Amino acid sequence: MKKTMFSLEVFPPKDSVAVEEIYNSLGQFALIKPDFISVTYGAGGSSQGLTAEISSYISTRLNIPSVAHLTCVGATKDNIGNILARLQSLGVKNILALRGDLPQGESLGDFKHATDLIEFINDFGGFEVSAACYPEGHTESPDFAFDVEVAKRKYDLGVKRFVSQLFFDNDDFYRMAEEFKKAGIDAQISAGIMPVTNAKQIYRIVSLSGAKLPAKITKAVAKFENNPEALYQAGINYAVDQITDLVANGADGIHLYSMNKPKTATDIFNNIKNIL
Ligand code: FAD
Repeated sequence: MKKTMFSLEVFPPKDSVAVEEIYNSLGQFALIKPDFISVTYGAGGSSQGLTAEISSYISTRLNIPSVAHLTCVGATKDNIGNILARLQSLGVKNILALRGDLPQGESLGDFKHATDLIEFINDFGGFEVSAACYPEGHTESPDFAFDVEVAKRKYDLGVKRFVSQLFFDNDDFYRMAEEFKKAGIDAQISAGIMPVTNAKQIYRIVSLSGAKLPAKITKAVAKFENNPEALYQAGINYAVDQITDLVANGADGIHLYSMNKPKTATDIFNNIKNIL
């Protein structure tokens, strides 16, 4: 039976107290032996400088493959070249190459699209490059067919793994995977899963990502909003059901947006470890 990969995403914290905590949390994440841990770059205002260090710590100290996210929007070729050299010197071998969200009123820099960054990394050499994909389509794309075209360009540039935006309706993911297959994209796709365990956080993240929330989730959030333990349980249950269905339908990988919370990741992992 094909094994489904299980990976985690963490973000570098903004303040120094939380920086200490992330290293403790990583030690706990390591106990569940994820196939890889990815580290975001500048998302939500988190420190960009720490992405390289945390990625290096994961791969060299915890012996778990790490993937450093890297965005190119607003950057010059020199900036990106320096970051790549630093990642290489720290032993980081995998990069999730992204455009980043468009800055308001600022210049785009030397890179317009993630594909420009992928080409630049390829020319630099020495990295495995992954890319993002969007089960519900990217918010700026004219239609889903265009998203598939963009994914095909990334695949043709050597991308072997896609990590998906978070989504709550598996049919959106299955449709995307089918369209990728039809377009000849023979890459591994990890499904982005966000456990809904905190009402405020989920509305913020959904407004940023554009993901639609099924009634099953909005009803649970409305009912359990003032009962954190009940909402936590409902959120874990939904994520476990979603993952079970994805694994049963042959998904290549599950990528859990851990929100730096080892308990959430561990509770979910313990519920699915026998089916991966
Ligand atoms: P692109 O592939 O460049 O696509 C962006 C838009 O441009 C799309 O609408 C696409 O259709 C269009 N496009 C692409 N190529 C072309 C072309 N040649 N011509 C015309 N149009 C084109 N953001 C962060 O800041 N830090 C992070 O760490 C981070 N991690 C992420 C991880 C995952 C798994 C995902 C799904 C997203 C992440 N993001 C992160 C958010 C991401 O930066 C945004 O979604 C961004 O708006 C698009 O990035 P992209 O790499 O998909 O861009």
